Amino acid sequence: MRILITGAAGFLGSHLCDRLILEGHDVIGLDNFVTGSKDNIAHLFGSQHFTFYKHDVSNYIFIPAKLDAVLHFASPASPNPASPYAYFNLPIQTMKAGALGTHNTLGVAKANNARFLLASTSEIYGDPTEHPQKETYAGNVDITGPRAVYDEAKRFAESLTLAYHRQHGVDTRIVRIFNTYGPRMDLEDGRALPNLLKQALLGQSLTVYGDGGQTRSFCYVDDLVEGIYRLLMSDEHMPVNIGNPVEMSILQFAQTINRMTDNTTEITYVDARSSRDPQRRRPDITRAQTILGWEPKVDLEEGLNRTIPYFKQKLGLA
Ligand code: NAD
Ligand code: UDP
Repeated sequence: MRILITGAAGFLGSHLCDRLILEGHDVIGLDNFVTGSKDNIAHLFGSQHFTFYKHDVSNYIFIPAKLDAVLHFASPASPNPASPYAYFNLPIQTMKAGALGTHNTLGVAKANNARFLLASTSEIYGDPTEHPQKETYAGNVDITGPRAVYDEAKRFAESLTLAYHRQHGVDTRIVRIFNTYGPRMDLEDGRALPNLLKQALLGQSLTVYGDGGQTRSFCYVDDLVEGIYRLLMSDEHMPVNIGNPVEMSILQFAQTINRMTDNTTEITYVDARSSRDPQRRRPDITRAQTILGWEPKVDLEEGLNRTIPYFKQKLGLA
């Protein structure tokens, strides 16, 4: 297949480019580098199976080639207001990438009679009142809260994707991605894994927000990519959660990182962000198991062992 992927220079987009090329597909990457980096795809330049366009998905997209699939991953994705890359600090760009970017990429898919896959998020569940989160749960999002620019854009994107499926018969897929980590995460983007692992490798105190009792479930990137690839190859049109159901508190997560890196510095508890931090998050992956025969294989220790060398290299410690 010839596949267009937006957000190709980002963490997940670049791993997907690698996987798609490995499977024998031709990949056209598109990115405006607002949060991504050329470093993530530098190894692909020169491959006859990879083409790249620097472009903002919020503007009309023209690709001079017949496409078989379109994967829309372009969006700022970090919720940490302290980071310049966070969607809090790019509110309008974030809403445009989710709304106009989804409209434009759906238009490209429709014009090419191509398959479409939307990168949605566990954030569409907001601060959930149902636990674990099933795809049928409608969510608890504060429309005017600080996270709304991301959450509501993704919710709109899901609805628009299904509208194109129902009205125009576009062959769509929606993946709801839960917290994922691995090599090529931007060390400065403020998400939990890059912040905490960077601090640990530098022998610094880990910053745990609030009392660290809030929970997340962390998925290693290779597992996520496998789930997304299976979804792309399936004929499932309704949203599917992909994530690791092993839930832990952020304090436990920080302690695991300290242990794995031999960091003995005491943890620092930082005032909880005024960001409506969701208090619990764990995917119910029954649909992914049933429909895709998928479940994650890499546990946290193994995933950290695969991630640490990348962080050491970026920090000049390797
Ligand atoms: P990332 O910031 O590493 O990648 C996003 C990429 O999109 C970047 O390369 C950025 O430059 C590009 N981009 C942003 N706006 C753009 C625009 N207007 N035009 C063109 N390119 C643009 O983040 P990521 O973690 O790889 O996230 C990728 C996708 O997956 C996002 O849509 C995000 O919402 C979704 N997601 C990720 C996670 C996760 O845990 N990593 C969880 C849920 C959802
Ligand atoms: N977090 C933390 N310290 C940090 C960064 C994040 O305690 O230095 C917490 C954050 O408050 C949240 C969790 O880690 O509860 C996951 O945050 P992340 O930014 O990775 O994404 P989220 O799941 O909130 O979208």
